[in-house]
Amino acid sequence: MPKGVAASPGIAIGKVYILEKEDFCILEYKIKKEEVEREIKRFREAVEESKRQLEEIKERVSQKIGEKEAYIFHAYLHLLNDPLIIDETVERIKKERLNVEAALRKTYKSFPRKFDIAQTGFIQERFRDVEDVGERVLRNLLRKPALTLSHLDESIIVVAYDLAPSDTVSMQRDKILGFATDIGGRTSHTAIMARALEIPAVVGLRDITKRVKPGSLIILDGNRGRVIVNPTHQQIERYKKKYQEFIDYRKKLVSLKSLPPQTLDGREVELAANIAGQEEVDLAVRNGAEGIGLYRTEYLYMNRRTLPSEEEQLKAYRKVVEKIAPYSVIIRTLDLGGDKFLSHFPVPREINPFMGWRAIRLSLERVDIFKIQLRAILRAAQHNKVKIMYPMISGLEEVKRANAILSQVKRELDEENIPFSKDIEIGIMVEVPSAAIMADLLAKEVDFFSLGTNDLIQYALAVDRVNEKVAHLYQPLHPTILRLVDSIVKSAHREGIWVGACGEMASDPLYMAVLLGLGVDEFSVAPTSLLEIKKVIRGLNWAETREVASKLLKLSTSYEAKRYARQKLAKKIKKILSGD
Ligand code: PEP
Ligand code: MG
Repeated sequence: MPKGVAASPGIAIGKVYILEKEDFCILEYKIKKEEVEREIKRFREAVEESKRQLEEIKERVSQKIGEKEAYIFHAYLHLLNDPLIIDETVERIKKERLNVEAALRKTYKSFPRKFDIAQTGFIQERFRDVEDVGERVLRNLLRKPALTLSHLDESIIVVAYDLAPSDTVSMQRDKILGFATDIGGRTSHTAIMARALEIPAVVGLRDITKRVKPGSLIILDGNRGRVIVNPTHQQIERYKKKYQEFIDYRKKLVSLKSLPPQTLDGREVELAANIAGQEEVDLAVRNGAEGIGLYRTEYLYMNRRTLPSEEEQLKAYRKVVEKIAPYSVIIRTLDLGGDKFLSHFPVPREINPFMGWRAIRLSLERVDIFKIQLRAILRAAQHNKVKIMYPMISGLEEVKRANAILSQVKRELDEENIPFSKDIEIGIMVEVPSAAIMADLLAKEVDFFSLGTNDLIQYALAVDRVNEKVAHLYQPLHPTILRLVDSIVKSAHREGIWVGACGEMASDPLYMAVLLGLGVDEFSVAPTSLLEIKKVIRGLNWAETREVASKLLKLSTSYEAKRYARQKLAKKIKKILSGD
C-alpha cells in the first residue's frame, strides 16, 4: 500500500486521472547571425503572452480561491521579469546562437545550480515554480495549448508527479475527488491548495504515477496518508463505510460549533485557531473558532520576490481581524528562519538554522522590516481586538528591545497623525528553554504566554523537529517537557496572566488533555481540529485531568508517562469522540 504524507483530510474512492507532465520534444540547433533578432523577438512575444495568461489566472484564483493562492502567480509574474531567466536566455541566443526553445530550456534547467544554498523542501518547490513558468513560455513558443482539468465528464482522483498551481486553478472543483502526487510535503502548493479547497490529498508518494494506470480504481485516505491501488471488493466496502463515518463524524461535530469549550465540571478554556493566511479564516469561523490564537505572518513574506509593504500587510491583517470579529487575533511577528526561508531574502547559510539568525533575532537586527510590520499591526488593531506575539524569545532583553521599538513606532504613527490602536496586549511564544526557565521574570513583562511546543520540545530535548531519524526521541510527554509546562503555567498564573498552547500538542486530544490538566488556559489548533478538540474538552472532567497531570509530574521517563496517560485518558477520549 503506497504511503505518503497526509496533506489534506478526507477519503476518496474513484478512478485515476493521470495528469502527465508533458515532456516537450525540443530540438537544439544553431541559428544564423541574421536569425538572432528574430528568435529574441519570438521569445519576448512568448513571455508577454505568458504574462497575459498568468495575470488572468491570478485574477481568477484570487476570486475563486483566495488572495494567498493568487500570490503564487504574483511570484510567477516576477519570474518573467527576472534577469536570471530573461536576460540569460537572450544571452544564450546571442552568444551560443541557440534556437530560442533550447536556450530557454537550458536556462531554467540550470537555475538550481545558481543557488549556493541548502536545497530545503521549500527551495526545491520554488525551483519547480521556475520550471512551471519556463514550460508555460515554451508552450507559447510551440503554440501548444496548456494542460487542463477543465473539461471532465466524470469525477476523478488526480494523480500527478506534482500539481502546479496553474493545474489546480483550471480544474472543476466538483469533479475532483482527491489528489495523489509523487512529491511534496505539507507545505507544498498541492497540500496548501487541497486544504484550502477541502479536497482530500496524499502527497510525497514517490512513484504513484508509475504504479497506477489511467482509469483504474484507487482509494485515497487523506487522514492517514495512504493510497490503495486496485482495491478488493472488501477494501472498497470498508472504505465506503469509513467515508460515510468520516462524513457523519464531521456533520456531528458541526453541531458543537456554537457550544462553549467547557469541561463537564465547568472549567471553560479558550479555543482558537492557528492560521497561516487570511484564506484560512473562513474555515476557522466555519469550525467555530473563538479567535485566532496564532497568525503565522511569515507566509505573507514567502512565495514572492519583494517584501510586503505596510499597506499590503495592513490589508491582509485587517481582513483577518474583521472576519474573526468580535473575537481577537494574535498576530505573531515574523518567524523566518529554521525551515522557513525566503528565496529573495539573503539569509546566510548556517549549519544550525534552527538555532541561528531567525525570528525575533532577525527582527531586532532588521529593524526596518520589523517596524513596517509593527506599523501594519497597530493600524489593523483599530478595527478590532489584536494582540502582538513575539516568536523565539530567549530572555528579557529581547522583550524589552522589541517593546522599545514598538513604543517608537507608536510615537512615529502619532507624529504622522496615522490612526492606530494604543492599547495592545503583548505576549510571547514560550518555545526556547531559557524563556521557559525564567518564565517568572518574563511573566512580569508581558500580558500572556503561548507555548510553542513544536520548538520547545525540539530545543529542550535537543531533537530536530524535521529530522525523521530522531523522530522517536521527540517525546511531548518527556518529564522535562511536563516540568517546564508546569512551571511556566504556575509562573504565569502567579503574575495573573494567561497561558495558551499553539504548538501541535494542542491539536492532539491526548496531549491536549494533559495540558488542560497542567492548567493551560487557551488552546490554538488547526482549523480542521477545532471541533474535535472541543468535543474532547466537553467530555472531560478538569479535576480528573489535573489528577492525571500531577501523577505524570512524578514519573521519571517518557515511556512511563505515555503509558500512564494512555491508561488513564486514551480510552476515555476514544469514547468521547465516538459518542454523540
Ligand atoms: C511552535 O513552535 O510550537 C509553534 C507553534 O510555532 P512554529 O510551528 O511556527 O514554529
Ligand atoms: Mg515555533
